[in-house]
Amino acid sequence: MTSTTLAPRWHEMPPGAVVRELGNSASIDRSDWRLERPVRDQEKCIRCRLCWIYCPDGAVLELDKPYINRNGRRYEVTYEFDYRLCKGCGICAEECTVKAITMVPEAL
Ligand code: SF4
Ligand code: SF4
Repeated sequence: MTSTTLAPRWHEMPPGAVVRELGNSASIDRSDWRLERPVRDQEKCIRCRLCWIYCPDGAVLELDKPYINRNGRRYEVTYEFDYRLCKGCGICAEECTVKAITMVPEAL
């Protein structure tokens, strides 16, 4: 997968590599950094929000999208991944207390 925004080369970096463009992480495609991608089991997810809180890249989306699980429990929100922003660090899977997130090889 190719990036939509190329990172500057070393000689193009500002002194101290300061970030001059606020919020630029939202425009950088980080998907090609990934070796593994997180996959969520919506049935196991208890909507605790931990993955949303801990993701360092804002790649977990909290959507106003109701979901009813197999036991008939209704949730008002659904968490999904924005894979364009996800770098595959695995923090979300590590923090999920009910193990609803599995990291799978990117090629699968
Ligand atoms: S941490 Fe796990 S249970 Fe909590 S919202 Fe994320 S996937 Fe669902
Ligand atoms: S793998 Fe890392 S970057 Fe991707 S959604 Fe999980 S915490 Fe965020």
